[in-house]
Amino acid sequence: MIEVYKFGGASVKDAEGVKNLVRVLENNKDKNKLIVVSAMGKTTNALEVVVNDYLNGLQSPESLSEVKLFHRNILDGLFHHDQEPVYFKVDQLFTELENFLQHNKSNKYDFVYDQIVSFGELISTTIVSDYLNTRNITNNWLDARDFIKTDSTYRDAQVNWTRTQEKILDLLDPGKLNITQGFIGSDSNNFTTTLGREGSDYSAAIFAYCLNAESVTIWKDVPGVLNADPRYFEKAQLLNKISYEEAIELAFYGASVIHPKTLQPLQRKEIPLFVRSFMDPIPMGTAVSKGDGIDPAIPCFIVKKNQVLISLSSLDFSFMVEENISEIFRLFHQYQMKVDLIQNSAISFRVCVDNKFNQLEKLVQHLKARFKVNYKTGVSLYTIRHFSEQAITELEKDKVVLLKQLTQNTVQMVTEN
Ligand code: ADP
Ligand code: ASP
Ligand code: MG
Repeated sequence: MIEVYKFGGASVKDAEGVKNLVRVLENNKDKNKLIVVSAMGKTTNALEVVVNDYLNGLQSPESLSEVKLFHRNILDGLFHHDQEPVYFKVDQLFTELENFLQHNKSNKYDFVYDQIVSFGELISTTIVSDYLNTRNITNNWLDARDFIKTDSTYRDAQVNWTRTQEKILDLLDPGKLNITQGFIGSDSNNFTTTLGREGSDYSAAIFAYCLNAESVTIWKDVPGVLNADPRYFEKAQLLNKISYEEAIELAFYGASVIHPKTLQPLQRKEIPLFVRSFMDPIPMGTAVSKGDGIDPAIPCFIVKKNQVLISLSSLDFSFMVEENISEIFRLFHQYQMKVDLIQNSAISFRVCVDNKFNQLEKLVQHLKARFKVNYKTGVSLYTIRHFSEQAITELEKDKVVLLKQLTQNTVQMVTEN
């Protein structure tokens, strides 16, 4: 049986990170593995700047030179001299990217985005694979686009499970140490697609599902899944065990430590997911598996920043009922708004959404034809799973609450910032 390991951007943000990855593998070398790696550090953000510069008319943007320099420094920190083949391979990838910039005719943002941003993962895995070879960890570099087959929804590609399963069964030798990219796939015309930001966890789950893997481990800069995002909450505590259902809920509400789509395929085959620290590879971190609730049973806090609160009412004070609500949802879907929270009364409808694809203006224009529309950007959505009165009081202090909703297990609040 095979184990799938996923290393995120933070784990390979510099040469030291790549050396540490080797230590992690050396500490855990008993089983066959498939390794999924993200782009290095903040490369995806940097490539998003390249996309914007390019679509604003720059053929060889300065922002691309910065991406090159960043990787050159990592190469210099890992290899002895610049005649090693890996330098040539990385150069070739950049040339391929530059060729795309020169010859591409499409101005479709999402398409161009995927063709450019995917190079982050292609480059990172090339560097990691060659470095492992120099450390006598013989491995096989795979192009994830030969395996993960998707539709053509660029930037949010949906997996074609049947074709992906076939490709993995036909072309992947699980007896080798394979290393491949997270986040990327390809459509039926073999154009590159991406699975959505932070999608490498999901890639690891897709491979695990198709390979009937024994487990998936995602190596992070935190000891495991905590009961709160340590960037926003002090004293976050480690959760030792979480059921699939609970982890799906946490990820859905926005616990960004696990990509929300990761868990369903694992749950279907009861493949356990471990979240462990790449800085301390001995403790087992968090196990997500079959079972009940969370251990320890404590409130979990989740925050999503930069959301939009939209309030709608009918122009003629008629009721907000099925007909208008279904129209509203059709528009949310059309403009790729991710709905976080809904609250409605007889004549008004409020919804908190994630404007991931920057289509808010267009949506609002469209909505205004039929509804009275108010909206507020830059709000935060806080969720407490398994809340206590004390947890709510603590969260509410020093915040302006715009909307609050309680269900048996969960309280959600939209706050001013
Ligand atoms: P990767 O390097 O795999 O891309 P991410 O940055 O996506 O890693 O995820 C790790 C980060 O997720 C942590 O540094 C932490 O700030 C954040 N995070 C948010 N919610 C949680 C949580 N509940 N538990 C642990 N980390 C969390
Ligand atoms: N590199 C991609 C991103 O930063 C995918 C990932 O890291 O999961 O979104
Ligand atoms: Mg990430």
